[in-house]
Amino acid sequence: MVTLNDANAVPTLYSDHQNSVELIGDIQNHISQDSRLRGMNGRSYYRWILALVREGRVNMMYTRGHSAELTIPAQPNREADHYASGSQKFPHLVPLAPIPTFTMDTYTLFTKADGWIETNIRTFVNFFLAKEAASGLARIHDNLPPPEYPYTRALSVHSAVIQLYARSDQLPTAETLESRSRLESCLCRWVCNAVESMHHIFVGCAQFDEWRQDAGAEVSLRTERKLEEADMREKDRQPILNAAKSLFIDDPAVWPLKISQYYLGQTPSIQNFITYRMLPDTIKRRKLASHLSSD
Ligand SMILES: [Zn+2]
Repeated sequence: MVTLNDANAVPTLYSDHQNSVELIGDIQNHISQDSRLRGMNGRSYYRWILALVREGRVNMMYTRGHSAELTIPAQPNREADHYASGSQKFPHLVPLAPIPTFTMDTYTLFTKADGWIETNIRTFVNFFLAKEAASGLARIHDNLPPPEYPYTRALSVHSAVIQLYARSDQLPTAETLESRSRLESCLCRWVCNAVESMHHIFVGCAQFDEWRQDAGAEVSLRTERKLEEADMREKDRQPILNAAKSLFIDDPAVWPLKISQYYLGQTPSIQNFITYRMLPDTIKRRKLASHLSSD
């Protein structure tokens, strides 16, 4: 709040925020204290006020907030509080203050949605990096929704529970148990000299090799039959069959992250293998893709 009595007087800026008033006073009295402002919220406003104070164009004074006094500083301060707390309700009554871009850091982040970002830059950047990484990860695997049946009706609903535990990293593998001090060692409790992680149990562990081979053969067989039904040319079938064969193994050519993640409910993106040229009918193409990935 600024008050001015006559044309030549230096205006006074009143604030009920004691820390701000003290800060401006401190910095004024000690040369080169600007470093204090570097990490502060709203530092461009502080720098602006500070510049005005240094040039003798404004005085900054403290006035007690939320007081019922009738003094000149107290009354407009009450008014300012009122508009500040209700600015959402009557935005048209609140005068716009210019954004002091001229006292911001030399490089300041800006987005259309958020405006200028002066503080918590690390959190801000982290948010966008995480968002970008997440959307990248969502795209790389097959994005067709899995069929509902095995999750809701079939006896294999058990596999849905396993998947839930796997996705929340709650399966009692030796690696998890050791990290929670429930087990002495994180090494495989079956036959291998390897860390018993989720990926090890589902993809690497020799104990379950036979299971994986059997399951892989079954998926391959079913895929082959479906491709035959769809009348796909021999040459075009191969990459899809390879993907089916590699479902349970780390095949860098098939899995986008180079490791199999079938146990998290992911499948390689089959749609990439079924092109317009192979099946020009869009509906048939989509049907085949979802038919295949549902296995
Ligand atoms: Zn093992």
